[in-house]
Amino acid sequence: MAAALSIVMPETFHGLCTFHIRRNFMKHLGNHYKENSNLPYMFGACMYEFEEVEQFNRVWEAMVKKHNLENNEWLSGLYRIRDKWARCMMKERWTAGMRSTQLSESLNAAIKNHLKLDHDLVQFFRHFNSVVDEKRHNELIAEYEMRQKLPMVGLRQTPMLVHASETYSPTVFVAFQNEYGESTTMVILRQQDAAMFVEFVVMRYDGGPERIVVFNRNDLSVRCSCKKYENEGILCGHALKVFDTVGIKIIPPEYIKR
Ligand SMILES: [Zn+2]
Repeated sequence: MAAALSIVMPETFHGLCTFHIRRNFMKHLGNHYKENSNLPYMFGACMYEFEEVEQFNRVWEAMVKKHNLENNEWLSGLYRIRDKWARCMMKERWTAGMRSTQLSESLNAAIKNHLKLDHDLVQFFRHFNSVVDEKRHNELIAEYEMRQKLPMVGLRQTPMLVHASETYSPTVFVAFQNEYGESTTMVILRQQDAAMFVEFVVMRYDGGPERIVVFNRNDLSVRCSCKKYENEGILCGHALKVFDTVGIKIIPPEYIKR
């Protein structure tokens, strides 16, 4: 699949499913669960937690050393393709927040429901079409609900939230609203002006990592070091905090993905 994707869809990021990696981990190193070691925990942290490459490398090396896995072929092979599964390596890749093959598996399951082993090719396509019809029907229903029902606004209505509720699909709106809520808990620690750019250091008021948001005065764009927008397509609380600070009260159109 990786080879085909790089030829047919060269712009596409090919990531590995975290569920399958975990399943393979069980197969190759599952004995560590029984032995009560911290290997599964360290491995999981490398996959999901670390945002910085240095931190990832430090923990990975410590993990390999501690558990004498220098010569474990499966683990070394996985390390070589870490840009396909480690959070720190893929945070700028567009994934819509997906880390596992949930989508294709639900499609697999849907197709299985309509198939029998003794179907010929014509029967297969007839059933395949009914699966596609069913998906399209679900999409129509979702679109109808989006037009006819207003999403619940859980926070005080601000122009930004009202704009988001009119613009985003219900699912994306809920994700946006969470980030917007987060932004109300953020403080700006420092601010540095340099001609076209203003750099803000943003943090939650109760602690947590510092993020750097660079605001461009010319085109009103923002880039945050957490890379949530690049990865999931939803503006992060840090960027929203900066928008609020500089007086941008609706979502700039370039941040609304089709
Ligand atoms: Zn951010």
